[in-house]
Amino acid sequence: MREIGHFIGGRHVAGTSGNHGPVYNPASGDITAKVAMADASEVDTAVAAANAVWPAWAATPPLRRARVMFKLKEFIERDRREMAAIITAEHGKVLSDADGEIQRGVEVVEFACGIPHLLKGEYTDQVGTGIDAWSIRQPLGVVAGITPFNFPIMVPLWMIPVALATGNCFILKPSEKDPSVALKLAELLKEAGLPDGVFSVVQGGREAVESIIAHPGIAAISFVGSTAIAETIYRGGTQAGKRVQALGGAKNHMVIMPDADIDDAVDALMGSAYGAAGERCMAVSVAVTVGSAGDALMSKLAPRVRALKVAPGVDPDAEMGPLVTREHMEKVRGYVDLGVKEGANLVVDGRDLKLQGYDDGFFLGGCLFDNVTTDMRIYQEEIFGPVLAVVRAPDVAAATKMINAHQYGNGVALFTNDGGVARDFAQAIQIGMVGINIPIPVPMAFHSFGGWKNSLFGDHHIYGEEGVRFYTRYKAITQRWTAGTRRGPEFMMPTPGR
Ligand code: NAD
Repeated sequence: MREIGHFIGGRHVAGTSGNHGPVYNPASGDITAKVAMADASEVDTAVAAANAVWPAWAATPPLRRARVMFKLKEFIERDRREMAAIITAEHGKVLSDADGEIQRGVEVVEFACGIPHLLKGEYTDQVGTGIDAWSIRQPLGVVAGITPFNFPIMVPLWMIPVALATGNCFILKPSEKDPSVALKLAELLKEAGLPDGVFSVVQGGREAVESIIAHPGIAAISFVGSTAIAETIYRGGTQAGKRVQALGGAKNHMVIMPDADIDDAVDALMGSAYGAAGERCMAVSVAVTVGSAGDALMSKLAPRVRALKVAPGVDPDAEMGPLVTREHMEKVRGYVDLGVKEGANLVVDGRDLKLQGYDDGFFLGGCLFDNVTTDMRIYQEEIFGPVLAVVRAPDVAAATKMINAHQYGNGVALFTNDGGVARDFAQAIQIGMVGINIPIPVPMAFHSFGGWKNSLFGDHHIYGEEGVRFYTRYKAITQRWTAGTRRGPEFMMPTPGR
């Protein structure tokens, strides 16, 4: 059985804990490899390797750090087909979608290429007579990233380019479900000229994460995953004195107004609810139809969901691949059973989907519920599968109130042709990322990504300028160079501006 190990100190290393986890091909259901599960001593080895090289990396001019990012961009683009194939083999998503996540990750690398500009700081001459002041941002040290299965390259790239370009060392703990593409990234960073030890990959699960939280040599943690774990890591990490940003789960609504282009809304729902089998933190999992939009939407949406092309991710015609594991597939199926019990109307039932030749694959067809109400668990909880719930609302005020009361606040969309309604909605909605006639409003790399409420714990959103702030400490310097003007002791509060 192939063994997937760590990448520490610039080279591949086998696990030493003796613990392993299975890695599946979700389309066939076969175990294709076993991944090493790190213990505290392996985390410690990676931290020691990083600490040894951090002073030199932090002192490397930002322009030279940026040049590593330029090379990384070039090499990811060169190898993107290979990387997409690695992702599809372990995650299951269709190849075009894997390529799409690589592209969104590359865009953060491109953002980090501009780091000399972003680290320029601010300067004021003459804050007092002969006194100048400026501020700079300096790296934190060794930082860690803990990432989810659903975007095995994009989410690590939300963190790594900004953390490295600002002068930090980075330890990545990828999801144990699809761990291989992180190792490919480590190889590309080395080829791009990153000094050994600045970036390491430590594979594993809970034990590795707890070791990262407890390690005194790690200054900050970026986490992306489910809400319960995000909150635990935020509390544990901050209690241990670390800076933490922890992005959690989601339940994203899309409101469809009666004046919206219904065909456009149906297309948007198909891609955002069923793309990646609904395993996206920005997937639309609730459609809120306002007034007459409900019947108009359902008559066009239901046949499209029935016609969804479900197939292995390597099939070029596939619109949706399998779920990541059998366990997750059973969980999603359980939610569909629950929705029926709760009294929602299951208009399209994907539970019995069978694909010839892939009997043991983790496939589920697209499911569509109508007349879902806010007291149902299928409305309140994140399902993270190809299940769309339609909720009917009388007007936009009721839709806004419903969404603002939800525990999650990641993304939201509004489809309308009325600019005034759109503007008021964007102002009033308590959600971190808003799309107007855009179903998955994932901000570009030069903005920042993050939700509100139970979708994010911490003060900073991820990547963009928020990322630069998260991975750096602010320093203000005030100086006087006025030889021969000794003033003697001053016991009052210094007031250089007077
Ligand atoms: P998960 O929370 O199960 O795992 C995330 C990471 O935490 C993995 O690296 C995993 O190894 C680790 N982990 C798992 N259990 C742990 C435990 N008990 N203690 C410590 N660490 C543990 O999430 P997942 O299933 O990999 O990913 C799906 C979830 O991630 C969904 O809830 C989705 O909404 C969320 N997500 C959120 C965003 C966002 O930007 N807000 C983006 C992508 C995914």
